[in-house]
Amino acid sequence: MLRSVFRCLRNNPVAGQRSMSQSSLAGKVAIVTASTDGIGLAAAQALGKRGAHVVVSSRQQAKVDKAVALLKSQSIQVIGTTCNVGKKDDREKLVQMALDQCGGIDILVSNAAVNPFFGNMMDVSEEVWDKIMATNVKSALLMTKLVVPHMAKRGGGNVVFVSSVAGYQPMPGLGPYSVSKTALLGLTRALAPELAQDNIRVNCVAPGIIKTRFSSALWDNEDIMDGFTRLMSIKRVGEPEEIGGVIAFLCSDEASYITGETITATGGMGCRL
Ligand code: NAP
Repeated sequence: MLRSVFRCLRNNPVAGQRSMSQSSLAGKVAIVTASTDGIGLAAAQALGKRGAHVVVSSRQQAKVDKAVALLKSQSIQVIGTTCNVGKKDDREKLVQMALDQCGGIDILVSNAAVNPFFGNMMDVSEEVWDKIMATNVKSALLMTKLVVPHMAKRGGGNVVFVSSVAGYQPMPGLGPYSVSKTALLGLTRALAPELAQDNIRVNCVAPGIIKTRFSSALWDNEDIMDGFTRLMSIKRVGEPEEIGGVIAFLCSDEASYITGETITATGGMGCRL
């Protein structure tokens, strides 16, 4: 098997070089929000393994320290800081750190989200609604506004939002969260044509049920999981790495003709808006 791969590369060296260079993110600087655990950490890992210098962040310093140590142990170039995406000063600090210590910004993965509410839409308070929208939607736009001028200076870049299967089909009890994830599908489409003029692509990934702390109430409950498994073609929960790879692909030159798009990675759960 290996021998035939080497023979193919020897006969067609350009094909080998092209696939290596198109997936490579060497020299790129990537900010990933909420990246000390789960999907964000897996995205940082996937980007870092392809050569990007990654800037990780989340609210808790101890988690930032742990994530930085883990990624360094995997020979990934990484720095980190605390950043609650809902706070203006924190967002600015994160961007400034990337500029000061990495020299610019090429990639933003906007991954942070909260879901403090379970119940009927009609029962959500204004305060909780505002919190969900501020963290899940507004911060995604405000982070994008902060990084775009710096990407433009470097001749282009990539923005990836992390939505959800719930953005297509609201999950029972998770109405406000689901609506916030639908908004990211719209944000992706609204920004893509505007930012194309600066050679910045804007895409989105909509994961299904992925094994992280955030979704443990779903995959830890056999009855709930039975219901979801029936909707899946691939009859298992996804792993964070299976989303990290999609995000890295969207940021690479392999996706150079893709913008304004959302890739669903749901094990085959139907997604339609
Ligand atoms: P996770 O494993 O629980 O990780 C959440 C991360 O977010 C942690 O690093 C946490 O660290 C950080 N965080 C939380 N609030 C933050 C804030 N306000 N500002 C900055 N960082 C914050 O969660 P996950 O499942 O990977 O979720 C990541 C994204 O995937 C979310 O957008 C979620 O909606 C989406 N998603 C998840 C699933 C799933 O099944 N897991 C499915 C679809 C979509 P700190 O506590 O230190 O802040």
